[in-house]
Parts: sequence; C-alpha cells; structure tokens
Amino acid sequence: MRTPRFYCPEPIAPALRNAAQIQLEARLAHHAFRVLRLRFGDRVTLFDGRGGEYPARIHSLDAKRLMVTVEGHVPVERESPLRTCIVQALSTGERMTFTLEKCVELGATRFQPIESERSVVRLKDERAQRRQQHWQQVVIAACEQCGRNTVPVVEESSALVRWLAVLPTRARGIVLAPEGGTPLARIDLAPYAPADELLVAVGPEGGFTDAELELLEQRGFTRVSLGPRTLRTETAAAAALASLQACFGDFR
Ligand code: SAH
Repeated sequence: MRTPRFYCPEPIAPALRNAAQIQLEARLAHHAFRVLRLRFGDRVTLFDGRGGEYPARIHSLDAKRLMVTVEGHVPVERESPLRTCIVQALSTGERMTFTLEKCVELGATRFQPIESERSVVRLKDERAQRRQQHWQQVVIAACEQCGRNTVPVVEESSALVRWLAVLPTRARGIVLAPEGGTPLARIDLAPYAPADELLVAVGPEGGFTDAELELLEQRGFTRVSLGPRTLRTETAAAAALASLQACFGDFR
C-alpha cells in the first residue's frame, strides 16, 4: 500500500526538532483507524503546506485520536512550473467539487470562484464562508491524495465585475469560450514570464454572457477554444488545465 499522506495545518518542523509526538485532526483519526485500518508503527507522510513533507510513524491511534512521531523532512515539491489560477464561475455543488478535485490533481496553483450573470448558485455571507471552507477542504483532500505539498488557496468568491476591477494590470489570462476562440494549443504564452500566473476563466453551466466575455477581453483575456463540442463546465476546466500542462507545463 502507498504510504498515506495527511495534511496538518500546524507547523510540523518544531515537532521534528523537539522529537515530540503530534496529534492530528480528529477527521484524520477516524479515516486512519476505520477506513485505512492503520495501526501502531505504520508509516505515514505528513505535510503542512510550508514546504516539503515529513515521514512519520503512528504512535497511537483510535477512532478519535491520532498521535504520530515525526522522523524527518524531505524538501520535495510536485508543483508545475506553469502557474495557473482557475477562475471558475459558480456552478452547482457537485460540479464545483469535481472542478476543484481534478484541477488540484492537474496542478492548478489557485482558485477564484466567481459569481457570473448566469451562475445558478448565489451565496450570501455565512453560507458563502462555509462553502469556501468546504472547498478548501476538498482541495486539501486532493493534495493528500495526489502528493502535492503546496496547498492551492480557494479565494473568497467575488462578482466578476468586482473581481476584474481590482485585478492587477499586469495579470493576464484566457477565457474558455465555445465560440470564436483561438485553439488552446495555438495560444502564445510568450508574453508571460514563467513565474507569472495564468488566469483561466471558465463559464458556468449556461456560459458567460456576451457582455461578460467582452469585459474579460477588455481586461486582456484571450478567448480560447477547446474544440467544436460543448463541454460541461467541470469538464472544460479539467480539459483546459490538462492541455495547458501538455503544451506549456509539466506534461511536456
Ligand atoms: N451554452 C453555453 C455552454 C456553456 S459550457 C454556451 O454556449 O456558452 C460551460 C463553460 O465551459 C463555457 O462557458 C466555457 O467556459 C467552457 N466550454 C465548454 N465547451 C467549450 C469549448 N468547446 N471550448 C471552450 N470553452 C468551452
């Protein structure tokens, strides 16, 4: 079995220095004990999002409490040199989850949920905050699964117009549009410095309106096509990211 990977929000380095045991979150205790059936002495890998990963062993475990002994630090990252922010128009719960999970696996650097005119879902205050926390948790679980030690941030959702208004002028992006776009493999990324982040805007189930597409273009977004078939929003995000990694990122 592959060594299970667990995210720990607290810094792990001090525990390694002090040869101390650390207690992991209760959600992990349940998962490790009941689902993975781990026991005393089993190996696990921990990461805290502050760089690298930590080999560790289970010191004690039941369904509520998981204590581990940290044994070392390995400064490994599995990030793509192509930095991308998925600017995803709010779609329904399951689709959003799919987009986040798959795009983490495919190497997205950051997520910006966007309220667009045709977004079916609208979120207000407290619910929006709970949603964002839930999405961040989906991203963390995907990092545990796929080996990433850097955790992409899910930003607070924002209305498209409001978000564009505060976008730094040097930010550049593409907008996926079923009509009138340059085929993805032919876009020219030359104007982007490698460290720059490419914004990838994806419409909701009903697509962006013409006015929204024009607004994005005015802000320098290039219209990009993924072929003649209409993809569902969650397919479009994952397909675009996989293609971007193949053309410009770490699938090359
Ligand atoms: N009826 C809608 C379809 C929306 S599909 C419309 O005509 O706009 C949801 C989103 O996925 C789109 O807004 C777009 O961002 C992306 N998408 C789907 N298929 C695509 C394609 N073939 N090329 C580029 N983007 C696509």
